[in-house]
Amino acid sequence: MIQLSGVRKDNITHLPILEDFQKHFFITARRLRYPVIAGINIKNFKYFNQIYGFENGNLLLKRMADHFCFLNPDCKLAARIYGDHFIVLIEAYTPDEVGIQEELAIICREFSKEANQEFPQVRIHINCGAYFVCKQDKQIDSIMDRVRYAQKENKDDYKSSVTFYTQELEHKILCESRVIPMFEQALEDGRILLYLQPKFSIDEQKLIGAEALARILDKDGDILTPGYFVPLLEKSGMIIELDRRMIHLLVNQMKEWLRQEIELFVVSVNLSRLDFLEEGFLDDIIRDIDQAGIPKQFIEFELTETVFCENLDEVIRQIERLRALGFRISMDDFGSGFNSLDVIGMVPADVIKFDRSFVLHSLKSKTGQEVMRSLMEMFQRIDFEVLCEGIETKDEEALVYACGCNQIQGYLHDKPLDVHVFAEKYLGINNS
Ligand code: C2E
Ligand code: MG
Ligand code: MG
Repeated sequence: MIQLSGVRKDNITHLPILEDFQKHFFITARRLRYPVIAGINIKNFKYFNQIYGFENGNLLLKRMADHFCFLNPDCKLAARIYGDHFIVLIEAYTPDEVGIQEELAIICREFSKEANQEFPQVRIHINCGAYFVCKQDKQIDSIMDRVRYAQKENKDDYKSSVTFYTQELEHKILCESRVIPMFEQALEDGRILLYLQPKFSIDEQKLIGAEALARILDKDGDILTPGYFVPLLEKSGMIIELDRRMIHLLVNQMKEWLRQEIELFVVSVNLSRLDFLEEGFLDDIIRDIDQAGIPKQFIEFELTETVFCENLDEVIRQIERLRALGFRISMDDFGSGFNSLDVIGMVPADVIKFDRSFVLHSLKSKTGQEVMRSLMEMFQRIDFEVLCEGIETKDEEALVYACGCNQIQGYLHDKPLDVHVFAEKYLGINNS
């Protein structure tokens, strides 16, 4: 560390306080070949304090200051921001992100290893976000914001300890910050679109139903797919509004088909974990469906295992209520995560939807096919229907049929279609 005179020091770590770090930041950075700024903290420091107490907590902070700053010859300036959050300015010798990322990861691993040996009851993981300082950077606040973003990105990643703020990450943050306002505007303008993907029976090669999938028509006329907005809507809680709207669009469409004397078929719609935690959500959608006069057996709610993460008894009670009213329930994405069979056994569902990833994996080997056949047989024995998602080829269709599955959904028959295109193609309705 460069020795600076007259700086104020933090009592615990003896590092400069943040204000003085900021004051000396640019003068120091300018002297370095490739200045890298990194934010460092411990992912689970809270538990450390709970288990080992504050005095040991302070000892660990001092060890961090020694390891990452005083004993690290590449560290030129550092400060403790607050708690276990440190900021360090490091000199890199090449502008190569991968190289310095690996060096930082080694330093983090060494620290964790030593700390875990000394304090074995808590697994210490370091969270490090880093950024290459450029000549154009003039504001310390925006530099520190970038470090924070990189740290945030790394927070839940227990495999790696270092994330760099890159142009890609910058792009992602920009997109994310636009998604929620874009969705709210689309909701208001009626630009949430109902797409339907058909489900087919293999033996009769006949349409047996469809899944409702959301799309957003953006202002430039592009169609946005759920991968772009669903995860962020889930994070922000706005997913409830999407699901409410999708059900509304679906039941109004069904009402229109009834008016045109089209024979209804089952359409499934995706529900989210948050829908079950939102008071009044089920009452609202049931009212909407009743007002449109849609018989409940034509609506199926698709649930993923995340629905069962919290308040299991209450969620099961709500699902039983839906089923008692006559709605169908399906378990979506079976085999894509860590579905536990005890939960499946408890869930009052009608259909198990096997995820594409599981289907593909199973079909690769004879053993996989045997596992699939046995699972299908078991589910059918306890009165579940089974459906395979993501079937793209005739071979895949033949293989899942041989395993005992007669219902499929996938690009082999069709991709999700705008509801009007779907109606024209499958129901013979001419929209023009
Ligand atoms: P999901 O419910 O498992 O929906 C099936 C996804 O698989 C759809 O993606 C569909 O386009 C895709 N797919 C269908 N056939 C094939 C195939 O043959 N090959 C491949 N590779 N993929 C196929 P999509 O429409 O992008 O939806 C993705 C996910 O977003 C959905 O997965 C669902 O979890 C979520 N989602 C979509 N709409 C809604 C919604 O209105 N509400 C909620 N809560 N989630 C939604
Ligand atoms: Mg689904
Ligand atoms: Mg699925």
